[in-house]
Formats: sequence, C-alpha cells, structure tokens
Amino acid sequence: MERKKTERKKIHVKSGDTVVVLAGKNKGKKGKVMKVIPDKGTVVVEGVNMIKKHQKPTQAMPQGGIIEKEAPVPDSKVMTVCPRCNRPTRMGRKLLETGKPARVCKKCGEVI
Ligand SMILES: [Zn+2]
Repeated sequence: MERKKTERKKIHVKSGDTVVVLAGKNKGKKGKVMKVIPDKGTVVVEGVNMIKKHQKPTQAMPQGGIIEKEAPVPDSKVMTVCPRCNRPTRMGRKLLETGKPARVCKKCGEVI
C-alpha cells in the first residue's frame, strides 16, 4: 500500500493536542503536541523524548552548551487524549451542521 506520490503524509494529531505515547522508552508519557512534521510523519511532544543537544553560542547563551530538547516521535506511536473523557482515543470524523468536518472522540462523542 505504498503511494508513490509525493503528497504529504496525513498526520492524525494536530498541534495543541494532548497525546500519550504508546510504545518505546517514553511509553505512557503524556504531553502536548508542539509541532507536527508531516514530511517525516513525526510529531514533537512537549517533555517527551528529551535528548541532549549541543548548542552553538547564541546571544542569549554566549557560552553555548548542552540543552535538553524534545526529539520528534513517529505519529504512529502516539494517541490523542480526549480533553473531555481524558482517555486515549481514536478520533472519528463527522460533519458539523455547518458542513464543516470535525474530529470527534470515538469514546464520548465530544467534538475536539
Ligand atoms: Zn472523549
């Protein structure tokens, strides 16, 4: 089922979503999606998958140094947490009365 087209991968989470990590060393960690990188199929989640990175000197940090930074994780390893029922859930889709598509929690039906 590989597609040859160069279309961007559809990422199932959005920036600002709260997600939980399903696998790997960060399993069970929760955080907010800070960034979605569709070209790579990864997301950056606040406080998850921290790596140490050498930082070049900047004006704010003239010495440079080592900073901790979130590394992206594959979107397949995270699941959205519903803000209403607070459970990891798959998102369904439905059309609102206005005709706009919306994401809904498959567990409690909340529009997210
Ligand atoms: Zn829910």
